[in-house]
Amino acid sequence: MVGPQDNPSNVPVSQAYDGDPSLASAQDIARTLAVDPKRGLDEAEVKDRLKKFGFNKLAEAPQVPGWKKFLLQFKDPLVYLLLAATAISLVAWFIERAHSPAGSGESLPFDAIVIVLILVLNAVLGYIQEARAEQAVDALARMTAPQTSVLRGGRVLHVDTTEVVPGDILVLSEGDTISADGRILTSASLRIAEASLTGESVPVSKRAETLEQAKALGDRFNMVFNGTAVTQGTGRAIVTATGMRTQVGRIADMLSQTDDDATPLQREMAHVSKILGIAVCIIAVVVLIALAAMSGFHSLDDVIESLLLAVSLAVAAVPEGLATILTVVLALGVQRMAKHHAIVKKLSSVETLGSASVICSDKTGTLTRNEMTVERVVTASGSVQITGTGYAPNGHMIAMDDSDAIPDGVRDEVVCTLGAGILANDGELREGAEPGAWEIVGDPTEVSLIVAGRKVKADRRYAGFSRVAEIPFTSERKRMSVVARDAADSDHLTIFSKGAPDVLLTHCTRIRVDGAVRPLTQGDRQTILANVESLSDQAYRTLGQAYRPLGTSSLAQIPGITTNAAGQVTEMADQSDVVESELIWAGMVAIIDPPRTEVRDSIAEAHRAGIRTVMITGDHPRTAARIATDLGIVEDGGRALTGDQLDAFTSEKELDQATADVSVYARVAPEHKLTIVKSLQRQGNIVAMTGDGVNDAPAVKSADIGVAMGITGTEVTKESASMILADDNFSTIVDAVREGRGIFDNIRKFLRYLLSSNMGEVFTVFGGVVFAGFLGITQPGSQSVTVPLLATQLLWINLLTDAAPALAMGVDPSTEDVMGRRPRTMNERVVNREMWGDVLFIGVIMAIVTLVGMDMHLAGGLFTDRSVGGSHEYQMVEARTMGFTILVFAQMFNALASRSHLQSAFNGLFSNRMLWGAIVVSVLLQLIVIYVPFLNTAFGTTPLGPQAWIECVALAVFVLVASELRKAVLRLMGNGPM
Ligand code: ADP
Ligand code: MG
Repeated sequence: MVGPQDNPSNVPVSQAYDGDPSLASAQDIARTLAVDPKRGLDEAEVKDRLKKFGFNKLAEAPQVPGWKKFLLQFKDPLVYLLLAATAISLVAWFIERAHSPAGSGESLPFDAIVIVLILVLNAVLGYIQEARAEQAVDALARMTAPQTSVLRGGRVLHVDTTEVVPGDILVLSEGDTISADGRILTSASLRIAEASLTGESVPVSKRAETLEQAKALGDRFNMVFNGTAVTQGTGRAIVTATGMRTQVGRIADMLSQTDDDATPLQREMAHVSKILGIAVCIIAVVVLIALAAMSGFHSLDDVIESLLLAVSLAVAAVPEGLATILTVVLALGVQRMAKHHAIVKKLSSVETLGSASVICSDKTGTLTRNEMTVERVVTASGSVQITGTGYAPNGHMIAMDDSDAIPDGVRDEVVCTLGAGILANDGELREGAEPGAWEIVGDPTEVSLIVAGRKVKADRRYAGFSRVAEIPFTSERKRMSVVARDAADSDHLTIFSKGAPDVLLTHCTRIRVDGAVRPLTQGDRQTILANVESLSDQAYRTLGQAYRPLGTSSLAQIPGITTNAAGQVTEMADQSDVVESELIWAGMVAIIDPPRTEVRDSIAEAHRAGIRTVMITGDHPRTAARIATDLGIVEDGGRALTGDQLDAFTSEKELDQATADVSVYARVAPEHKLTIVKSLQRQGNIVAMTGDGVNDAPAVKSADIGVAMGITGTEVTKESASMILADDNFSTIVDAVREGRGIFDNIRKFLRYLLSSNMGEVFTVFGGVVFAGFLGITQPGSQSVTVPLLATQLLWINLLTDAAPALAMGVDPSTEDVMGRRPRTMNERVVNREMWGDVLFIGVIMAIVTLVGMDMHLAGGLFTDRSVGGSHEYQMVEARTMGFTILVFAQMFNALASRSHLQSAFNGLFSNRMLWGAIVVSVLLQLIVIYVPFLNTAFGTTPLGPQAWIECVALAVFVLVASELRKAVLRLMGNGPM
């Protein structure tokens, strides 16, 4: 390794490469950056450089400091409203003190102090909850943190992208996002999409040559840039700049990017509380004017009481705790999903998931197990079976009738077929740590060929061949080729190809029969295609193999191939037409890939939930149709569309008609996925789309729910997805949908619960004023109107006693079959008409029982038969304590009722233990506020006797009774489930 002391250009190693690296040779750059391109940096050196250069990341928008985050909790129109209320009550206190005989007024503005304290407490809770939700999201982000392959200490390692340093050797392959700027060392058909940097949408090919003169970024073909993506091929590059020193880092406005994390639901909620706030302000003004008009303000007390009334109304109407509870419930849901292998990257996806109406899924690996086994080989002279299962290369070929009688010609063709399969191959089969255990590296389809090849000893016959060049597999081409040199005959190169048989066959002109080669006839083609179809009908994945001796010793001499000025072949992939032509057909293999067993049930469940499953695959239409039928995606004989057929549609209308009922797409290329997503969305569907390869990224991004494969997915796809399947399993998507629907239901439950509480409070305050004379709710010592419940008492309910049950409802186990109904449409309101119906109904009942309870403790009004003692002043305090407590208890019964719009609360009454725990907590809180003397002063309460307690519970239970009756009537009327 070269040390800094013999650094020729005297550039200190603590500097990233500062010249224009595209003008220097890769070797010079390696020397300057003191790295051996064949070995990479050592870990110790990496540590040093990390210290010197910092982490490889773009500077983020400056972190909001803690105090500011805390203050931001107050930045909310509702809080302003409450602060205004505080101000009003302060004014009221002042006036009262100034005008009352010395010593009779309250010595401290308790109302104002309590409101402020509760607001601060709420801000603290909100701050803590938000911090925890943020941590949960950060933890998820770490789970999905981008990784980069680098060469270090002679080994290829996957490291966190942030830990890449200048001098690191990037190991690039298809689907990688490039994590730093670098100079190409080697490349094979390397193509990179640089649209994110240059806006150029066509991927550019990259190679190692040195540029003669400085060029624009888009033309620096020997450089790779941070943030771009490998669409094809492989290569290595030496990192010349990381983090803010990269080209992307220099584009300053990247930094100001902040994303609005509010979900549609959170926005709707903010809207609902704003409307409530405004509505109540209007009501308050109207009530005040009405009061003034009816009886006029006779004394200062009247003015004060009217102001306090306005404050109470405002507090009553607004669900202060809602926003915090919503965030917590969403964050909890995301954590729960992560435990079940569905990693949701954004809170909002939780909601979208619940409304998915179509799930488009890849076949291989998602619906099937991706455990490939070659079971048959079909060649010109016949077919054989290959014995053995799994990746252990133990087995051999037997005839179709299970005998060993295989003609020599067939034997030769089979070995030739699997030999080509082994050579045109990027997979690897490794013996595991334990004897008999086998590990695979790469694509299971490819490894299955290696396994089968070893079983028939094709690896021995082709042992002398070594790879010279490769034309990689892409889902568009559906084939790959390798040019290899035989050690025994180094003058002649041979090309070996494998691919989808129907595709590969169009590149063949000859066929190997019985050890000899003859022209491929029309009859041969028909036989081969008929074989493909019959194998596909049996759910086999088919793969053809072909080869051709090139008759030359160097790539440059292949007739028709073009070279650069130096006589080198730089771009094999560009010349595929020339090389992959006039091939000799060897035979094909039939691979079995069993469906995942749990998927069938998941598809049925999705179907029941009104969600259509669509299979999209590059595989043969008949294989696709067969597996789709086996899995229950289509009825027998369901229609399958191919990519070519999709291309043939001339109008969007025709296309939309087809996609409306076709659920199987085969022999498609990734770009068709985008066509399908767009078409389904035009029809009003909420589409989930899976993807793994780079080319899937646009479709995954356009889908309402982009789903990336956690295991086989490329970095690029993971970045564009909103959800990552840690186990690549289709069933996980359906589980996530179920979870999403459950969370959404639960949100509705606690919304119903919290909003009814607000309605109950508003109606109580409102009714207490309107029917004041009727109920005897009057100012002590006068006949004027007074505040039925204090603002502080209402805040206590909204922020404290309601919170625990609401949170418990947020994790409610479903009482209803969430998958038994159609998906919610996105434009349906969360708080819909039915819910407003529930909320108003419960609100009215709550207000009635509360006011009745209060009246029972007041001298005047309807219920005066009970002997009430004490001064009128004491009576009012006791009546308020009653009303306050009845409301809290009514909410506890309402908690049970709110779990469903239609179903009885007794259905699964004890299924949510947390809810019962929460009810206990809330009742304890209420006991504290009633029995702790200090809190008595602050909240205007007084201890209640046993009789009063019985009355409270007896009145509160009416809420549950009324709700049960209403539900029974609604059920009889056949109101749809909700
Ligand atoms: P899918 O993943 O939906 O099954 P692919 O796009 O991977 O489809 O493959 C499409 C077709 O290309 C397959 O049916 C197979 O015939 C062929 N194929 C798949 N993998 C390879 C490979 N590694 N090399 C050559 N051909 C392949
Ligand atoms: Mg595939």
